[in-house]
Amino acid sequence: MEKRISGHTGLMALFGSPVGHSGSPAMYNFSFQHDGLDYAYLAFDVTVEQMPKVFEAIRLFKMRGGNFTMPCKNIAAELVDKLSPAAEIIGACNTFVNDDGVITGHITDGIGFVNNLALNGFDVKGKKAVILGAGGAATAIQVQFALDGAKEVHIFNIKDEFYARAEGTKEKLAQKCPDCLVTVDDLDDKEKLAEAVKDCDIVINATIMGMKPYDDVTLIDKSLFRKDLVVADTVYNPEKTKMILEAEEAGCKAIGGVGMLQQQGVVNYELFVGKKMPLDEYNKFQA
Ligand code: NAD
Repeated sequence: MEKRISGHTGLMALFGSPVGHSGSPAMYNFSFQHDGLDYAYLAFDVTVEQMPKVFEAIRLFKMRGGNFTMPCKNIAAELVDKLSPAAEIIGACNTFVNDDGVITGHITDGIGFVNNLALNGFDVKGKKAVILGAGGAATAIQVQFALDGAKEVHIFNIKDEFYARAEGTKEKLAQKCPDCLVTVDDLDDKEKLAEAVKDCDIVINATIMGMKPYDDVTLIDKSLFRKDLVVADTVYNPEKTKMILEAEEAGCKAIGGVGMLQQQGVVNYELFVGKKMPLDEYNKFQA
């Protein structure tokens, strides 16, 4: 590292709170070193109130790019100069790129998820999806599905504080992506959920259920699984959730959340430096 950092090294960073647990610095610094790129990536613990100062620093230090995590994703979308189509619909960004002083905000969770599906042989164009959840991950996936030409997106969420967000997503997508039919229903309406799953190509869990400590929970009854259904989870801890294990048992194509996490990094890296991230090498290095 001491050989790598010089007076010319460019800074990239993650901003949010907490950030100490983040795997991003290790992944991007490995990749910069592997690719011989003169950047260093750090993580800074900042509050929402400090974000205007963060943007002053981004401009002052001519930072090429970086990321925002909770709770700073929404305020970041207000402070950038431009937004990607998905970030504009969602009103949040997790990634920024600084092109000679013009800062563009992107949201790459949904793109990472869709790219990972493509790597697993599933193209969202023309497909019908059931997506459980209305939080950050779910909304990003719903918007990306609509932008990428999905035919139908059926959102199911419990009637908690996120339900109104699902209805807001439906309204925004009706304007921005009118060719995609979006519906919103109560996740507790098991009959409606079963009907929607029977008629769809892919079912996606983007809620916190299935994640530790809820790892004995699955929101989709395994009797609904059939061989031609794709079942995908955003949860990556555990790597295989109860839903994914039951889908595999039923012979479905089952896709866990680790790929989404990694593909987001790949999308971000390409935005930062215009190169494919050396993911296989990083995975080998970590093993
Ligand atoms: P969030 O807090 O924004 O949303 C939480 C969602 O869970 C809401 O839809 C909420 O209604 C739902 N929920 C909460 N309790 C529930 C219950 N008892 N029954 C059914 N639904 C319930 O969270 P988020 O940031 O969107 O994260 C959601 C999941 O996505 C998490 O498991 C997270 O690990 C995962 N995630 C994965 C990646 C990745 O790269 N693989 C990235 C982001 C998030």
